[in-house]
Amino acid sequence: MSDPSCIFCRIVAGEIPATVIARTEQALAFRDLHPQAPSHLLVIPTRHVDSLATAEDAVELGAVLSLAAEVAKSEGLADGGYRVVTNIGADGGQTVQHLHFHVLGGRQMHWPPG
Ligand code: AMP
Repeated sequence: MSDPSCIFCRIVAGEIPATVIARTEQALAFRDLHPQAPSHLLVIPTRHVDSLATAEDAVELGAVLSLAAEVAKSEGLADGGYRVVTNIGADGGQTVQHLHFHVLGGRQMHWPPG
């Protein structure tokens, strides 16, 4: 399922350019347009899913999270550590309504997040 009005579905379809790092049948990893860390990737399901709140397919979620760990490793983040985060809804700070996991690394992360 793809939503033609969704910017990330359009990246999956190749209609909008993105720096793609890795792709599987179920997941896509690409660089965030406005990086918040030296390494900032987004990992998304290739199928349209609004957010983690409406994700129903555990196999698909596993595929997306596995790719997140894989690209963190290929970015050289595995030894030093990194952060994986997903924002949900207005209070969570979600601005793109297609499930995505941010993979952030290459600097010290702080807690609590803003
Ligand atoms: P969120 O605020 O959690 O919904 O995150 C959305 C992220 O998508 C932000 O970090 C944006 O910088 C990023 N973003 C928006 N449009 C694009 C795009 N065309 N290519 C890559 N990243 C994008």
